Amino acid sequence: MGGKEIDADVAVIGGGIIGLSIAFELSWRGARVRVFDRDEPARAASWAAAGMLAPHTEMIEDASFRALCADSLAMYPEFVSRLFAAGGIDPHLRLDGILSTAFSEIEMEDCAARWETLRRRSVKAQILDRDDVLRLEPSLASTVRGGLLVESEGQIDNRLLGRALLAACAARGVTIHASARDIALECDERRVLGVRSDQGFYPSGSVVNACGAWASQLAGVPIDSVVEVEPVKGQMLALQIPRGLIQRVVWAPGAYLVPRDDGRLLIGATVEDIGFDTRVTARGVQSLLDAALRAAPALRDCALTEMWSGVRPSTPSGLPQIGATSIAGYFVAVGHYRNGILLAPITARRMADAL
Ligand SMILES: Cc1cc2nc3c(=O)[nH]c(=O)nc-3n(C[C@H](O)[C@H](O)[C@H](O)COP(=O)(O)OP(=O)(O)OC[C@H]3O[C@@H](n4cnc5c(N)ncnc54)[C@H](O)[C@@H]3O)c2cc1C
Repeated sequence: MGGKEIDADVAVIGGGIIGLSIAFELSWRGARVRVFDRDEPARAASWAAAGMLAPHTEMIEDASFRALCADSLAMYPEFVSRLFAAGGIDPHLRLDGILSTAFSEIEMEDCAARWETLRRRSVKAQILDRDDVLRLEPSLASTVRGGLLVESEGQIDNRLLGRALLAACAARGVTIHASARDIALECDERRVLGVRSDQGFYPSGSVVNACGAWASQLAGVPIDSVVEVEPVKGQMLALQIPRGLIQRVVWAPGAYLVPRDDGRLLIGATVEDIGFDTRVTARGVQSLLDAALRAAPALRDCALTEMWSGVRPSTPSGLPQIGATSIAGYFVAVGHYRNGILLAPITARRMADAL
């Protein structure tokens, strides 16, 4: 393809949850969209994540960022039902609460302080004593002192969400260029022209950089418009557990536990500032298993079925960048760090509004 005519209204570079959500939203609104990924879409961080939807349990300091996260959580049911209507895949959204647990007096005081803060913010949450916690999660260690349940939060199976987005995008006519090589933004001194790769040149009215932790490396971006994004590694593992052994997302000191409908229990995650190293290490696995078994010794004999890692896209401010740049037609949707799954619906809406 080499013509000068605009071939797509929008080209999205990067086919993670963020790029695919934007592509889906735009196609839903009637735009012609192409997605370019140098690899397999819906892998990378979006596949590696735990899929927790936890704007309140995360205790985000920045008020406007906190509101963005809470608004995105509120959008999730409608977002998922549109995905299902378009592509027929259900990503298993579960809003059955997130339980933070305390095993010492200091951790209990922390839960109480967080509960006070959430109450002031009108977030529905319950402070729980030991018996309450064990009634909700009987497999936790009997040494648990109490906990905090945030009722409106939960999880989505992010790997299924990736598949649901791909199916919905395909059904809405989005063209996906997977495993494309040498992808580069093309622009003149005033505005974006399109996307070039080994598959040819595709003229496009607008281009969105949704390259996750690699966003600052996108070729063809003028130096003063390069976004600052760094990778932050996270390791995770999965156990196969008897159904119902852990029933909802549990935060314990040093690890969180995320039970999936397919019988896996995800245990995550390390936070490591060591670049693009994605090895699973003995120390990473040990720290996660130690914390998980302290909180729930009943997991001891469960089969360890999977170990993996991914890199979260982090900006210097810790906040995502979603919107226009100084180059006309060039947009960014990057830096979602620990909350990219949570923020997918609102990022898609904001980008579609901006475009
Ligand atoms: C261990 C772990 C646990 C997490 N848990 C949660 C959680 O519980 N809840 C939550 O909300 N978030 C969580 N996150 C964060 C979340 O996974 C990320 O914020 C989110 O996936 C970022 O999505 P993305 O689409 O921006 O990036 P990615 O999913 O990394 O996708 C980027 C895509 O861009 C492509 N790409 C890169 N460079 C180029 C290029 N030059 N040209 C073309 N394509 C390119 C890549 O191949 C990739 O497909 C977690 C992350 C990790 C690592």
